[in-house]
Amino acid sequence: MPSRPTLCRHGDIISKRAPTRDANPKKNNPTRDANPQKNNPTRDANPQKNNPTRDANPQKDDPMRGKVALVTGGGSGIGRAAAVLFAHRGAGVAVADLDLGGGAETVAMIEAGGGRGRFFATDVTDEAGVEELVAATVGEFGKLDCAFNNAGITHPSRPFHELTLDQWNEMIVVNLTSVFLCMKHEIIQMLAQGDGGAIVNTASGAAIVPAPGQPHYTAAKRGVLGLTTHAADELNNQGIRVNSVCPGMIDTPMVASWRESSPEMAEAVIQHMPGRRLGQPEEVAEAAVWLCSDEARWVSGNTMVVDGGMICR
Ligand code: NAD
Repeated sequence: MPSRPTLCRHGDIISKRAPTRDANPKKNNPTRDANPQKNNPTRDANPQKNNPTRDANPQKDDPMRGKVALVTGGGSGIGRAAAVLFAHRGAGVAVADLDLGGGAETVAMIEAGGGRGRFFATDVTDEAGVEELVAATVGEFGKLDCAFNNAGITHPSRPFHELTLDQWNEMIVVNLTSVFLCMKHEIIQMLAQGDGGAIVNTASGAAIVPAPGQPHYTAAKRGVLGLTTHAADELNNQGIRVNSVCPGMIDTPMVASWRESSPEMAEAVIQHMPGRRLGQPEEVAEAAVWLCSDEARWVSGNTMVVDGGMICR
């Protein structure tokens, strides 16, 4: 689980853990850098700068071509897979995470594939930081079309009555309040643009079938479903679609640490899974990116379970 950083008003991050594997501090400065133009949300004299598409190699059938996507938790696992897929499909991608090295690696993967990405070090539990993230995304890419609110944590499993208030509070803030904050500022931006938008929130299969030993995780993820359906209903006349994905157990660093902390429970769950395998982050990314695409224009308020059919068992 990531340590909680202190984030100052202007987005400079001071993390308590080893902050970065990146020697270039500029790369990890979320917003303010030496070039003030970069943070100017308006189109500037150089139209290329704000063009999110891969103009050097135009692929007319890229479903995300010309769009701008923001992915939280983009430095690892499902978020990384989604950021790379958004870029591969033609979107400019803002990658947000606490993990400076992970975020930089995701951007490197995007660029290696010929896409365009930028990392913004962000604590999604901090409202000022989230507001600044959205502004910085617009400053870099010119607009915001799609958002994948995906950052999250888990804790080692424990009986309900052993859960402490601190553990409860941390889970709710990171896995639920952060989604509210991201949605709020993304919606403000999308309404200002007046051109609709698509938001996908990562909930969990645990929002449908409780995860053993994780009552606070289950509660937070059910809350994400509530925010999703509420916003979908409220915004459907403004062209903003809001959906959620509910991954089953996916092979990411989060699950690796859970397997370490609760090996017997984890193995029992895997044995019960379809195909006796974990899902892959790319399999969830496909669902999230599709829900953000125009192909899903008549899909809103939906809960898409991506678990290989586990939930049917
Ligand atoms: P992961 O640990 O690989 O990635 C999560 C990312 O979120 C990390 O890079 C982490 O640094 C980032 N993050 C955590 N707190 C943050 C904060 N306050 N601000 C910014 N970034 C923060 O985990 P993952 O498995 O890819 O999980 C992604 C999402 O999917 C989470 O919301 C998780 O609850 C959900 N999920 C995962 C599984 C699974 O089996 N892996 C199943 C269901 C739901």
